[in-house]
Amino acid sequence: MTLEELNESCKKCDKCRLRKGATQVVPGAGSEHAEIMFIGEGPGETEDKQGLPFVGAAGRFLNELLKSINLNREDVYIANMVKCRPPGNRDPQEDEIQACKGWLNQQIKVIQPKIFVPLGRFAMYKFLKGTSISKEHGKIYSRSGKVYFVMYHPAVALYNGAMRPILLEDIKKLRLFLDGKLDAQSLNDTVSKIISEKETLKKEQNKNQGNKDSSQFKMTI
Ligand code: SF4
Repeated sequence: MTLEELNESCKKCDKCRLRKGATQVVPGAGSEHAEIMFIGEGPGETEDKQGLPFVGAAGRFLNELLKSINLNREDVYIANMVKCRPPGNRDPQEDEIQACKGWLNQQIKVIQPKIFVPLGRFAMYKFLKGTSISKEHGKIYSRSGKVYFVMYHPAVALYNGAMRPILLEDIKKLRLFLDGKLDAQSLNDTVSKIISEKETLKKEQNKNQGNKDSSQFKMTI
């Protein structure tokens, strides 16, 4: 199946409640041969109207970020965790992400990107569960020939101008990596470190309060 065929099928989806409130399904945009895939949360108002991802104010900042490292939208693929706009731009809910994940997984299968750039915590959780974006942003990990580079969602810079330089600084690391000037950390090492940190925390919590910490760090694809 080509990416176009896949996205045409996606446009007909009405598997979850989000379709009801959306003008249209927004599968994604960019090159079928992209080596880098950016993954956001879900379409906003402008994206819902135009049928394209990241074309509103956050999208303009994403364009600026790409340009700052000599990339443009045609070089990459841009998709979202959920393909229909959550009402009022609320966060996507877990059952909606689960309902929609098959489309993203199929896009990944067709495009086979080498580098994944989750934008924001919802997209980060697809790859790195059990950790926080404030800890992981700007870091590059590798696992099984794939690379993961975590970034804040560009929309955060719209609400908080102090985040702009952080995102601009973070994305420079992606350029350094593309130029072979920065190595990716092994995700396996990171997984072990986070699991060990969580186990220590869990022991301390159990000791102090008798509570259990059920969170886990998981690699999900
Ligand atoms: S959000 Fe995803 S699963 Fe839900 S209707 Fe839209 S395309 Fe289908």
